[in-house]
Amino acid sequence: MAYMLITIPLRSVMRELDELFAALARARFRQKFQLQQKDFEYFQNKGLPTILSHAQDFISKRLAPAFPAKDGRQTPFGGHPVFVAQHATACCCRGCLEKWHQIPQGRALNPEEESYILTVLERWLKNALQSRKTDSITTAPARTIDIFDNF
Ligand SMILES: [Zn+2]
Repeated sequence: MAYMLITIPLRSVMRELDELFAALARARFRQKFQLQQKDFEYFQNKGLPTILSHAQDFISKRLAPAFPAKDGRQTPFGGHPVFVAQHATACCCRGCLEKWHQIPQGRALNPEEESYILTVLERWLKNALQSRKTDSITTAPARTIDIFDNF
């Protein structure tokens, strides 16, 4: 029975995230937000754990208060990969969090909601890094040993 109690909530969160990402993929406005070259360079310099710690900080300072400062305009459109991820996943302001994630406005976020948002951002960032890797593999020269063929 203990197994049931642990695995059922995890699975339902995973399924919800699959549904969320499928819905985001159909939202043209959200699809406009993609990481740029300088964001990937930032990843290379800082690493994912540091960037996720920034995400945690943005969530607690800019989203978690019951009435965040400049709500609706608190997340810049670029300048940090997490800002891009926030717009791409509708984790940018309390209005979008309510509309897309059913998190009500007008009260502080609880720790579960903060960690849920972090999970969403982490998944989006990892997807972006993964598709970047796949791109660079498929655009790499197919035959790199040609220069040795004559020897
Ligand atoms: Zn928003």
